[in-house]
Amino acid sequence: MSPSPPEFLVGFGYDAHRLVPGRSLILGGVPIPHPLGLDGHSDADVLAHAVTDALIGALGLGDIGRHFPDTDARYRGADSMALLEEAFCWARERGYALNNLDVTLVAQAPRVAPHVAGMRERLAAVLDADPTAVNVKGKTTEGMGFCGRGEGMEAFAVVSLRRRAPG
Ligand code: MG
Repeated sequence: MSPSPPEFLVGFGYDAHRLVPGRSLILGGVPIPHPLGLDGHSDADVLAHAVTDALIGALGLGDIGRHFPDTDARYRGADSMALLEEAFCWARERGYALNNLDVTLVAQAPRVAPHVAGMRERLAAVLDADPTAVNVKGKTTEGMGFCGRGEGMEAFAVVSLRRRAPG
């Protein structure tokens, strides 16, 4: 007899991308007006990538690069929220629902606060959860490091999954 699957799974995700001119800034699936955007093979949504990696981690499936390699032309300019949705399907298939998600985005500019509600809604919709189960926090580093100098942004995410009742 195989052991019963855990009631809860927890995963942690991290990502960083460089800020460059001539790119759109998309965070948590929300386009944000800013003179610079994040550079990357996909749409470079650093927040979505951290959440996706947290989800993949909770499921014990490795990392985002293994599933969505940036050497694969299919993912050029990809909508990262669609990749997150795909990763969430793997949770569903294994009988898990989102318990809660907490994300910290580190960015010196622009201010994230006005966009947090939109990000929560987008993330909750993709993760089939109520927006109250999703928390997004923006932080600066008071000018220190690559985020503080405006060279890039980074995101940290913790996801908790809950086993769905059978049937
Ligand atoms: Mg990334």
